[in-house]
Amino acid sequence: MRFKPKPLKSDVKFECKFCLDCCRGRFIYLTLSDIANIMAHGHDPQDFVLMTVEGGKIRFVLAYREWDLGCIFHDPETGKCKIHSYNPIICKIYPFMVSHKPLGIEGEEPFEYKGEKVWLYYDESCPGIGEGKGTITREEVAELGLKFQKEFEKTDLDGLNRLLSGENHGT
Ligand code: SF4
Ligand code: SF4
Repeated sequence: MRFKPKPLKSDVKFECKFCLDCCRGRFIYLTLSDIANIMAHGHDPQDFVLMTVEGGKIRFVLAYREWDLGCIFHDPETGKCKIHSYNPIICKIYPFMVSHKPLGIEGEEPFEYKGEKVWLYYDESCPGIGEGKGTITREEVAELGLKFQKEFEKTDLDGLNRLLSGENHGT
């Protein structure tokens, strides 16, 4: 599934329809904090962490099933996430996106949050946007985006090795 960004200009209703589209066919980036959280619930990192290289940097992504490219934590029978309460930050952000620079999309505008200027978007291909009774605020999206950025910047191979060797990870 390709993210089709539209500027998030106000708070929006959202209810996940469990269509699986966002849990299949794309890299789900992991931070060290995500890996530590999932490990703390009894999962072996050998089963759920894959390594990839992007722009000369090592990135960690969630493992996926070969037969449908779906995330290994997606339950094909219920359509739900098996690790919902402790899934990665990036899964909690989706179907929203936080950028530190504009993407060049009509109608986009900066949003000031905690002294930072960010650009907020939603994925217009997600069928849960505009649905349900719950409302997602722009502050909530920006907060998660800044948290992801902070954790992602300190995620590297040395950190993973420290985590695997049992050293505490400061989350
Ligand atoms: S967040 Fe959107 S795309 Fe992802 S499973 Fe829910 S409804 Fe589908
Ligand atoms: S961890 Fe859960 S929400 Fe995230 S991609 Fe996997 S199944 Fe989807």
